[in-house]
Amino acid sequence: MYDIIIVGAGPSGLTAALYALRANKKVLVLESKSYGGQILNASKVENYPGIKSISGYDYATALFNQVKDLGLEYKLETVLKVTSDRKVYTDENCYEALAVILATGAVNRKLKLLNEDELIGKGISYCASCDGMFYKEKIVGVLGGGNSALEDAMYLSSLASLVYVIHRRSEFRGEPYLVSQLKKKDNVKFLLNKTVEKLNGKDKLESVTLKENETLEDIALDGLFIAVGQEPRNEIFNNVVDLDDKGYIISEDGVHTKTKGIYVAGDARVKVLRQLTTAVSDGSIASTTAIREMALLKELSDGRK
Ligand code: NAP
Repeated sequence: MYDIIIVGAGPSGLTAALYALRANKKVLVLESKSYGGQILNASKVENYPGIKSISGYDYATALFNQVKDLGLEYKLETVLKVTSDRKVYTDENCYEALAVILATGAVNRKLKLLNEDELIGKGISYCASCDGMFYKEKIVGVLGGGNSALEDAMYLSSLASLVYVIHRRSEFRGEPYLVSQLKKKDNVKFLLNKTVEKLNGKDKLESVTLKENETLEDIALDGLFIAVGQEPRNEIFNNVVDLDDKGYIISEDGVHTKTKGIYVAGDARVKVLRQLTTAVSDGSIASTTAIREMALLKELSDGRK
């Protein structure tokens, strides 16, 4: 029996583990892919207080090592189900805990265009910091108007010969500072009020068809980096938590779910700002809350035996 099982090893999950391990709790972190979560996609993080600039990969690795040095138990298993008596079923095992923290984050949203999946790795990417180097001196597009797209465009402008920022509106959701920095770059061009209608190319991406009002236009691209936001994947927990219409976990105070002993942290929950700073904040609050309520959870657990 663990004190706390944390589902997800992104910044919020690892921060929850950090606080729990420092409080001497028996902790298991379950992750389906690799530690780091969405921050791995960030080529640079420059709005984390106290750190001027760090790559998402370096940040995630530093955090993971910090937690590992405290004796983290970490398993690469996919969680399939969590029950109200805090049993966690994975594709390999079933574990039990006094408290479970859901820190499952979100995944990249797709455009759901024909041949989008087929062209992944052949011109279509969702991660500039991972794949950008394949596009040195090439022509790329970045789709989206949020911070991810703007940061991706900034990073790619140091590699590619030309970067198109393609956005469906003329206003940006991302920081104005990033927009102004991009406007200063000679090799960055803005294509605004346009949507991507088609991805052209069979074995690799050759061009995209853009639409503005009723006008269609093809532009040649070697790569398209899609950064149109994230989607949660919380459906498997809907027996123990309430979800909003977008699939985010509802928590009245940002920590507790509707089930005693099951907490939420990070991008997986309904919140106003999804940033690294708010993810680590969530992780620390979820962990300390679970620890504070542990005696009560123990009584609950003893009662069910
Ligand atoms: P986002 O802020 O949700 O922006 C998504 C962008 O994609 C929006 O501009 C949206 O357009 C556009 N979009 C959505 N669906 C689309 C579609 N089907 N076709 C074309 N465009 C579409 O997502 P994000 O940039 O990934 O950022 C997610 C969160 O992480 C944000 O809170 C962001 O601030 C944060 N973030 C933080 C950091 C950091 O801390 N350093 C870095 C990156 C991201 P509309 O604007 O028209 O809706």
